[in-house]
Amino acid sequence: MHLLTGNPKIPCNEEEEGLIILGAPMDWTTSYKPGTRFGPKSIRDAICNLEFFSMIISKPVEDIVLFNDLGDIALPPGDVMESLTRIKKVVKGVREDYSENFIVLGGEHLITLPIVEAISDEIDLIVVIDAHLDQRDQYLGNKYSHATVMRRITEKTRIPIIYVGARAISPEEYQYAEARKDMIKIYMPSDIDRDHGKGLVKLIKGKRIYLSIDMDGIDPGFAPGVSNPEPMGLNPINVIELLRLIHAHGKLVAGDIVEVNPLEDINDITSLLAAKLLVEITTVLRQG
Ligand code: MN
Ligand code: MN
Repeated sequence: MHLLTGNPKIPCNEEEEGLIILGAPMDWTTSYKPGTRFGPKSIRDAICNLEFFSMIISKPVEDIVLFNDLGDIALPPGDVMESLTRIKKVVKGVREDYSENFIVLGGEHLITLPIVEAISDEIDLIVVIDAHLDQRDQYLGNKYSHATVMRRITEKTRIPIIYVGARAISPEEYQYAEARKDMIKIYMPSDIDRDHGKGLVKLIKGKRIYLSIDMDGIDPGFAPGVSNPEPMGLNPINVIELLRLIHAHGKLVAGDIVEVNPLEDINDITSLLAAKLLVEITTVLRQG
C-alpha cells in the first residue's frame, strides 16, 4: 500500500509477524497543545524499554506480544479530510490483506473516526477511555475535530459507546448524552470503584468491541504528556481492570491509543504508560 511509509518501526522488534501496528501522526485539529503527531514514534521507542509481562494473564508474554509494524500512514500536514480518507483506506486495506488484528497509534483523537468507519461491520460496541466525550456538534466552527469525533461516529455508524473516565463534559454534550442514553453510557472515574465493574460486565458481555484509549482519560499525574490534560482521572490500574473485563467477557476486535504528546511529557512517562497498555492490549488481542 503506497499510503504506508514503512517507518518508523518499533526499533527492537525483529519479527514481521504478529499484531499489525499503524501510526497515524496527525494533530491538525489540536486546539490546545500541539505535538501528538510525534506520539506514534514515541510509543514505539518506549515499548523497547519495557519487559513484556502481562498483568492481565499474570505471566511473561514475549511469545505472544509480537508485532508486524507497518510504519506510519503518509498524511498531508494540515489537510484534515484527505488525512481521514487515507486512514480509512489503509485500515480497509489492512483488513483485506492481513488476518491479524491491528492497533493504530495516534495522533489526535479524530483518527478514530475513519478507523471505526472502515470496520464498522465488525463492531457492536465502542469502549472509549477519555476525560472528554468528544460529542460536540462543532468545535470552533469545525465539524471534524478531536472534540467532535465521537459525535460524528455516533451519527455515521450508530454504534453504541461506553465512556470510561469521562469528567469534562460541556452542557451541549451533557444534553446530547442524556437524550441518547440508548447509545451513550458514561462511567466517571468516581463510578469505577462504586460499580465494581458489574454494570460494565452486563454491557460488554459477548460484544465485539473496538477500544479507543485517549490518554487524557488517565489522570495527568500518571499521563501528563497529553494535549488536553484534565485533573481527577483514572489510575492506570483502572485501565488494566477494564481490559481484564473485556478479555473475560467481550471480544476485542481492534483499537487505538491516541493523544500522547511527547512535547508535553515528563521523562517519557506518558509514552511508557501507553506502551505498557499496548503490551496488555496485544496480549488480549493475540490470545483470542
Ligand atoms: Mn478524546
Ligand atoms: Mn480527551
